[in-house]
Amino acid sequence: MSDVKQKVGIMGGTFNPPHIGHLLLARWAMEECGLNKVLFIPTGTPYMKQRSEIADSFKRLEMVRLAIQGSPQFFVSDIEVAREGATYTCDTLEQLCQANPETEFYFIMGADCLFSIEDWHEPERIFAACKVIAAARNASSIEKLEEKRLELIRRYHAEIVLIKFPEMDISSTMIRRRVKEGKNIRYMVPDAVIEYIEQNRLYSG
Ligand code: NAP
Repeated sequence: MSDVKQKVGIMGGTFNPPHIGHLLLARWAMEECGLNKVLFIPTGTPYMKQRSEIADSFKRLEMVRLAIQGSPQFFVSDIEVAREGATYTCDTLEQLCQANPETEFYFIMGADCLFSIEDWHEPERIFAACKVIAAARNASSIEKLEEKRLELIRRYHAEIVLIKFPEMDISSTMIRRRVKEGKNIRYMVPDAVIEYIEQNRLYSG
């Protein structure tokens, strides 16, 4: 058996809907940190979000599946969508670690999440289960992020890698708004996802 552990990125998200920012972030983290693959995990019932404007979990899962088709190193998991009750990242990561003891997991996130991750459910369990890749989109915030990174390392023995990522002013909120206003979302979202949004009349209000 090889002692070289597989390095797997976890791209967790509401993906309401998935867009090119998510895809590029996953690809970027993979290259910067030498990951073997990235597993996209759409959330089930996000406990910190307003549920009313979130598309059905299985529709978001399907949109992610469509978004990553044709990318052989990207995979999607229904581990959270299939779970009953609230979605906690720590439960997901522990479940993945138990099932894959030979794998090193890297949770990929926008770097500003470093400032809120302590409000997530039992952050110490998250840091124990995985390393974190935090993507900084704004060069001017690097110093503050580095300070926060060191604080989390001290407090939780966390392993956190900060990577620089190009700023892309695109978000799921912007896309939902554009769909509602009847505006075009081509090039922001993969074509297959646009088709799915249209066929299922998502976000049109
Ligand atoms: P999301 O809005 O779909 O975003 C997914 C990720 O993509 C985030 O890290 C986000 O960073 C990043 N992203 C979005 N647009 C981007 C862009 N243009 N350029 C670069 N990065 C971009 O998902 P979310 O609702 O934030 O959830 C993220 C994960 O955190 C999920 O796995 C969720 O379960 C987890 N979470 C867990 C808890 C908990 O366990 N208690 C609480 C909160 C969140 P930004 O946020 O910086 O945009």
